[in-house]
Amino acid sequence: MPTPRIEVDLTKIKDNAQALAELYHSKNISICAVTKVICGNLSIARTLTEAGITMLADSKIANLKRFRSGQIDAELLLIGTPLLSQASEIVIYADISHNSELVVIDELAKQAKMLGKMHQIILMIELGDLREGIMPEDLDATVREILKLSSIKLVGLGTNLACFGGIEPTDKKMDRLSQLADEIETKFHLHLEYISGGNSANYDWFKTTKHIGRINQLRIGESIFLGVEPLYRQRIPNLHTDAFSFVSEVSELKTKPSIPYGIQAQNAFSHTPIFKDQGNMQRAILASGMQDVDVSGLAPENDINILGSSSDHTVIDPKNTHLKVGDELRFNLNYASLLAAMTSPYVQKTFNSIYEREGIL
Ligand SMILES: *Cc1c(COP(=O)(O)O)cnc(C)c1O
Repeated sequence: MPTPRIEVDLTKIKDNAQALAELYHSKNISICAVTKVICGNLSIARTLTEAGITMLADSKIANLKRFRSGQIDAELLLIGTPLLSQASEIVIYADISHNSELVVIDELAKQAKMLGKMHQIILMIELGDLREGIMPEDLDATVREILKLSSIKLVGLGTNLACFGGIEPTDKKMDRLSQLADEIETKFHLHLEYISGGNSANYDWFKTTKHIGRINQLRIGESIFLGVEPLYRQRIPNLHTDAFSFVSEVSELKTKPSIPYGIQAQNAFSHTPIFKDQGNMQRAILASGMQDVDVSGLAPENDINILGSSSDHTVIDPKNTHLKVGDELRFNLNYASLLAAMTSPYVQKTFNSIYEREGIL
């Protein structure tokens, strides 16, 4: 099999998606699956819909486009902040988009009108994490403007926490979103279908809260794919944390000194690394580096040490693993590594699932 590669276990992803949908549904919250970390991969998207997920969300229009042409049977939501320059494509490929700028909403309205479409929007509210969203005090005025647009349907309010500022989604934050939804509905005589409370980081809030309030949607990426909640990276009970493995191949194995010799300056990434002298040691090179994966987010399955990496090499201390040139080493990945590996064209994506073994895919 080619290396470097990422092995994707679709069965584990399906299990995770089903378990999370069931968990959140126990308090009447539906989940949409956020696919940005899997770079719009069609096999994975199909697995998510087979697990019963009916809405997929991505921050790249190119990924939504791929889902459309791949005939993925789901509603498509564009998350992140939509670009003015992409308004036409957004209306074509997304059923719903997150929004926080009236100029963009106006342009979406114009494009939707031209195409004879109704475009749905979820208005994002800033609640302290300081990434996207309108300030709550601007909500009334913004809604008033949106309601003037005949080709735009305001279908919900949303917020996003724990992404930029690391602010936790607490009862207080969620209650504030519920309260804003109530106020808007009363004031403007409308019904909001989605009150979208956040992402995988809402897990602890969900488990402990006594009042879900109006929150009826969460947008879940990391917990489906990696089986953890992202605030403390604890495993969620019964979820798989090993749906993805990164596999790289040994291209050199030699005994060499443990510290570089000569006049030392900066390395490829502008660092001046410091090494410990352990005399001569075995050193192996893996034929993958920063062009393939975020090396600092790899956790080896074997007892080896990663000594460092450059664009396309990773140097390891093989310890007592008795490696040979041509051997493969496997790693678990964190979110940043998964994102990089799925995005890198140099990393092959392979699927090892019961479907594949049974010849269904
Ligand atoms: C990435 C993202 C998500 C999903 O976050 P996870 O932590 O992967 O669950 C949800 N909402 C928005 C707006 C995002 O950008």
